Amino acid sequence: MSAMQTSTLLRPADPLISVVLPAYNESAVLRELQQRISAVLQGCGQRFEIVFVNDGSTDGSYEILDSLAAEHSEVRVLHFSRNFGHQAAVQAGLAYAAGDAVIIMDSDLQDDPAAITAFLDQWQQGQDVVYAVRHGRKENAVKRFLFYAFYRVLNAISNTPIPMDAGNFGLLDRAVVNELIRISDRDRYFPGLRSWVGYRQIGVPVERLRRHDDQPRVSMKGLFRLAKTAIFSFSTVPLSAFYVLALLSLASCIAVSGFTLYHKLFTGLAIPGWTSLTIVASFFGALNAFGIGILGEYTVRIYDQVRARPPYLVARAVNFARPSQTGNV
Ligand code: UDP
Ligand code: MG
Repeated sequence: MSAMQTSTLLRPADPLISVVLPAYNESAVLRELQQRISAVLQGCGQRFEIVFVNDGSTDGSYEILDSLAAEHSEVRVLHFSRNFGHQAAVQAGLAYAAGDAVIIMDSDLQDDPAAITAFLDQWQQGQDVVYAVRHGRKENAVKRFLFYAFYRVLNAISNTPIPMDAGNFGLLDRAVVNELIRISDRDRYFPGLRSWVGYRQIGVPVERLRRHDDQPRVSMKGLFRLAKTAIFSFSTVPLSAFYVLALLSLASCIAVSGFTLYHKLFTGLAIPGWTSLTIVASFFGALNAFGIGILGEYTVRIYDQVRARPPYLVARAVNFARPSQTGNV
């Protein structure tokens, strides 16, 4: 490897690693979690901090986390004022983490702390985003099928390629974290945004473990809402479907009009009023679909403008006097 290349890939000499842990009513495992993560990071000889985000827990997590923080100077805790949801907790954790690399993982022991070593290896080799690709899911068959279908539908229609079977678990370089915390999307689908930012990304297969108590804190309703966010934030296919619908309605309008006019004019088999009614009904059906499609186009543009994602991100600028800047400054 040339000196030039090395200098861009080299990580800080003694990097700080942050581990961000959104937690909602996980008091039963917080201590074990802290111990296991510390053991892995101490084993790698890293400087680290553990950032717990207590998302309005009501099960005594508050006190446990405070005492963990009192016992261990590397443990930091953000207590939310109430439950704001998993994605909000991730966002807060990213905003408060100080690390040169930030690892995000669930607090229910489903994400195996042992995978951190592999993430750090990839990061040291120059990857900016390392995400766990789940295999061996332990959920029930219905949920497994829904996840399977969701990832495939999303992948087929999304404007940004989003890796399949990858959740939040993974590592982000500081540069990526800085971009992610600037994105102002209100409804956030983290794996989608993470892939949207670009940089050097790699997936690492990690076995998804069983939840400590088999009672997911994210409800099915919450998962559906997240799936909806993922689809509507990263795809305009549902909208384009209206144009296809409009074309189909127009085609059927022409066919039906031709058919009824033929009978009206040449065979006399038409019931009075039928011809005009059919033509008018099918014509307005097509017009409505076109109208919705056009309104949708304006809505998407307003949506895009309002959330103001930067039009581009510069990872590195070469031979410029000024340091590289991102698109929306
Ligand atoms: N979580 C959270 N706020 C919530 C729901 C969940 O911070 O409102 C945390 C939860 O404690 C866990 C992670 O988010 O650490 C993932 O939640 P869960 O295990 O329910 O999701 P699943 O693994 O089923 O996707
Ligand atoms: Mg879980």
